[in-house]
Amino acid sequence: MYFFGAYFTFHKELNDFLSKYQKDKTIFYKFNGKPSVKDSIEAIGIPHTEVEHIIVNGISVEFSCHIKNRDEINVYPLCSDIKCTNLIKLREEIGDAGFILDVNLGKLARLLRMCGFDALYNNSYDDHQIAQLAADSGRIVLTRDRRLLKFKDITYGYWLRSDDPHRQIKEVLKRYGLYGSINEFKRCIRCNGFIQRVDKNAIIDILEPLTEKYYNEFYRCDTCEQIYWKGSHYYKMKDYLDALM
Ligand SMILES: [Zn+2]
Repeated sequence: MYFFGAYFTFHKELNDFLSKYQKDKTIFYKFNGKPSVKDSIEAIGIPHTEVEHIIVNGISVEFSCHIKNRDEINVYPLCSDIKCTNLIKLREEIGDAGFILDVNLGKLARLLRMCGFDALYNNSYDDHQIAQLAADSGRIVLTRDRRLLKFKDITYGYWLRSDDPHRQIKEVLKRYGLYGSINEFKRCIRCNGFIQRVDKNAIIDILEPLTEKYYNEFYRCDTCEQIYWKGSHYYKMKDYLDALM
């Protein structure tokens, strides 16, 4: 039996996490004791990583704030039109540590690397390894699993709305404002290492005869030594990136 209740309103894309009966409505959340606003938001179904600002009875608060009976709570994603002064930031600004991707997002990892972004991916990671790696490095977790984003060790994360990698890449570029930072020929698509220009003579022994005959500009991955050149794959990739932008 619950003794208390608070009124939660979730704004904009936070509604993506709510059932059709809850979307764009004020939700009466029943509770006992003094739960934190963070735990209450996650109990309703929204991972803390998606939340940017919380306003309780007109005042911006931290995740650790305890909710009280009849509180009116507005919860916002990343957006600029919040009518409240003295907005509290719930976390430090994201650094440049890059992304870590959940298992089964291998295609998205390759697309991010193709755009030149640091995308750590290994399909043998379990949830706890991903959370630990993210905590240690400050990486942003990308996942289709909203349960993973509720791990307390994860500070930065994004729940991919689509399960199509070509839509996912657009979601990520938009969410993190990365359209202007795309830089092909920077990351190895296979392993996430950096690629560098390499002299043709240094690799001539391992080139296929036709590649050796027709190409002069080569790049090599620092980590796995994969060789790249501007063949037909490159022009397909270029067309893809042009369409993306
Ligand atoms: Zn590599």
